[in-house]
Amino acid sequence: MQILVVDDSALVRDMVTSIVVNAGYPQPLLAKDAREAKAHIKRSVVDLILMDIQLPGVDGLQLTRQIRRNLKDEQWIPIIFLTIKDDPDYLAAAIDAGGDDYLVKPVNPVVLLAKVHAMARISNMKAALDETNLQLNRLTQIDALTNVINRRGFDESLMHSWRLHRRNDQELCLLFLDIDDFKTYNDNYGHPQGDRCLRQVAELFKTCLRNESDLLARYGGEEFVIVLPNTTLRAAEKLAQSILLKLAQERIEHQHSHVAPYITASIGISTTRDGASTAQKLLSQADRSLYKAKSNGRNQICCFEDIEQLATDAEL
Ligand code: GH3
Ligand code: MG
Ligand code: MG
Repeated sequence: MQILVVDDSALVRDMVTSIVVNAGYPQPLLAKDAREAKAHIKRSVVDLILMDIQLPGVDGLQLTRQIRRNLKDEQWIPIIFLTIKDDPDYLAAAIDAGGDDYLVKPVNPVVLLAKVHAMARISNMKAALDETNLQLNRLTQIDALTNVINRRGFDESLMHSWRLHRRNDQELCLLFLDIDDFKTYNDNYGHPQGDRCLRQVAELFKTCLRNESDLLARYGGEEFVIVLPNTTLRAAEKLAQSILLKLAQERIEHQHSHVAPYITASIGISTTRDGASTAQKLLSQADRSLYKAKSNGRNQICCFEDIEQLATDAEL
């Protein structure tokens, strides 16, 4: 429990230090004004602040408002005011500014330690709750069948990748993958086997990713997407080819496919170099390319660039 004591009086800082240190807490961080307090908060993990209200320059209430504004909710730090003013209106203003408790100086060591202890308990409960929320949020973004990111997680990740692409002007590619003739697979091998096949295919796709930034997601049904930040179209095509090759090597039996006696996929590719102005356009360009790969005979790759070229050729 790292405590920060903010008080312009060296005497008070020493007194509070000896109370908390004698009670077994680590040596607190000390600040004599708002500037020093903010520097500590920026540099170190602070778990509790004991703050005087009357400080030179920015006072304790203003400092508290600034801290509450600047720290995100999950970084909440309990603040206990220590002040000489024993005034209910002042207490109300202090709580209103974002303080959590209020003690009148000179503070009784037993009361101070009891308050510190209570704040530590709330702080620990909040930390546990934040961790649970984080894990729940992660779970809501995972597809239960294949264990890869689901549509909801994908939407969020794509927006993140899109922002990075805009900021750094790096090429961003998108692969839209769809298993060929999967309905006949389900019809002939049964839905549970269809599920196992989807899991196996997702695992295989995962092994083709190159690094942490490549992101595989299940878009829905037997459709998957792969986001490739900072990747050229040529590299995206190479990755798509490696997926088709691996699927061919894996030879997941599919005697009822019109394409091959094993599971195959079709892949549409789009790149930000083709002028998509939004992430949604990039996605729809990959989807259109996938449609073209399907109509060209399946088990193949099609780039949006090539569709565009065909359209231009037809016009000429
Ligand atoms: P195409 O080559 O044109 O993509 O044909 P297709 O048969 O793969 O496409 P279609 O969209 O007609 O059928 C997709 C099938 O995927 C139908 C559906 O039963 C199956 N499917 C979707 N989600 C799941 C799932 O979670 N588990 C199983 N077992 N099957 C699924
Ligand atoms: Mg489909
Ligand atoms: Mg399909």
